Amino acid sequence: MSTPIHDVALIGYGPAGATLANLLGQAGLSVVVLDKEAGIYPLPRAIHFDGEVMRVFQNAGLRAEIEAITRPGLTGVHFVNAQGDTLLVRGGTTAQGPHGCASNYYFHQPELEQVLRQGAQRFANVQVHLRHEVTQVADLGSHVRLQVQDLNTGEGRAVQARYVVGCDGARSPLRHAMGSPLRDLGLKQPWVVFDVRLKDGAPARPEHTVQYCDPARPMTWCNVTGNRRRWEIMVLPGDDPAQLVQPETLWKLVSRWMTPEHADIERAVIYTFHSLIAQGWRKGRLLLAGDAVHQMPPFLGQGMCAAVRDVANLAWKLEAVLRGRADAALLDSYESERSPHVQAFVELAVKIGDIIQTTDPEAAQARDARFQAGQPEIFEFPAPGLGPGLGWGRAPAGQLFPQPTLATGQRLDEAVGPRFALIGTADLLAQVDADLVAIEASEREPALRDWLAAHGCAAVVLRPDRYVLGVARNAAELQALVERLPLRHTATA
Ligand SMILES: Cc1cc2nc3c(=O)[nH]c(=O)nc-3n(C[C@H](O)[C@H](O)[C@H](O)COP(=O)(O)OP(=O)(O)OC[C@H]3O[C@@H](n4cnc5c(N)ncnc54)[C@H](O)[C@@H]3O)c2cc1C
Repeated sequence: MSTPIHDVALIGYGPAGATLANLLGQAGLSVVVLDKEAGIYPLPRAIHFDGEVMRVFQNAGLRAEIEAITRPGLTGVHFVNAQGDTLLVRGGTTAQGPHGCASNYYFHQPELEQVLRQGAQRFANVQVHLRHEVTQVADLGSHVRLQVQDLNTGEGRAVQARYVVGCDGARSPLRHAMGSPLRDLGLKQPWVVFDVRLKDGAPARPEHTVQYCDPARPMTWCNVTGNRRRWEIMVLPGDDPAQLVQPETLWKLVSRWMTPEHADIERAVIYTFHSLIAQGWRKGRLLLAGDAVHQMPPFLGQGMCAAVRDVANLAWKLEAVLRGRADAALLDSYESERSPHVQAFVELAVKIGDIIQTTDPEAAQARDARFQAGQPEIFEFPAPGLGPGLGWGRAPAGQLFPQPTLATGQRLDEAVGPRFALIGTADLLAQVDADLVAIEASEREPALRDWLAAHGCAAVVLRPDRYVLGVARNAAELQALVERLPLRHTATA
């Protein structure tokens, strides 16, 4: 029997692979997912994601399920010095941010991955094979042939797909096979990640995240969900790593705030935080996403967020190419759009790391004085545009469009669905011949009307990932924009 050729094979079923499985499954593509592990990685790494990521989950049809296992983060991050003085508060948000949801959420990563995996089960066109390790990849030009070992039986078999996405994590065997080098943005620092579960009746701890900027031992405190709490503790020169993760050492380090009477240890592991971005996210029919192409210290809680943004960017492009609506060259815009975007987050995470990780007492004192004088080095959370990518115009092209609630009571993305959309004045919509969802920016839709006015245009075209494709001031500009959209069958995949 000949081996079938799937549309897409995903290597890795972490957050990147599981989100992409949902998006491609929803698009009706035939997807095969291969992961060498038997189940979800049980130890939580990520604990925070942002409003844009909730919007991607919403667009995958999983918002209610994700809301049920998350906690909106409304209280922000407090930077506190060695004396206990609060130097700065950043990032507290309202429950209704620009994405039609809270701007920050906290969660337990294994629970989130479980929801994503259950979501993928909705699609008969998504096959998942756990304990299947990909050992070889060959791009044959017309499709890709993977050599896969079934770790249950020890048997090898071939899997074929027209495209392969390596969501295979920081060590990414596919990245190695593709020969895509990593660029180092300079931070490399070990930290202990120490997760605890509060005991019943334990005293309330700060709701908010705290960055203890104590030069003697920088630490972070996070309220996760339920009774889960996290300490991140910087490893200092001279520390014995094996000794550092022993319960007695850990309790000593946090004794100012917590004792074994208050909580049970869930785990303590040393991670080395890196700041790396790969070059070469696509080679032919091979693509990479998530930690496989970028790693950053978790000071902004953005590593997994970037992974989810990657796959939201990639999903609609793969669909357009596989359905013959766009040339394969569309996939080259993936790296050029995403790489500068993620770099903005990596750079800010490194910068915040430099501030938090100050261990020289004099430098720390000078930093505290600057903070107290209202001159913090920390800037606003970045909302970078995409890199040049499609090259379809200047900002606001490449910026994320907000998600207001429409007069019908629907959220914008629910009204539009996972496809291109046109928002414009009634006058302009009437003049354009376009086979795509159109929403009138009328008096009844003040958020849409005001957005157009603020950007000096009469219409905007949104991409399926909700980034702005381009804006138009008149019918001619809009028609030109619409004619370039990958809406009709024109190419072969
Ligand atoms: C301490 C810590 C805290 C963090 N906090 C945050 C946070 O608050 N917010 C945030 O957004 N991010 C955070 N992150 C980052 C986040 O955890 C990662 O970015 C995210 O888990 C990456 O997801 P991924 O799907 O790309 O990779 P992974 O989750 O690593 O998944 C890769 C998968 O590929 C599989 N695989 C690998 N090779 C093969 C093969 N040959 N064949 C088959 N399968 C294979 C593996 O089994 C694995 O399941 C944190 C990270 C750490 C370490």
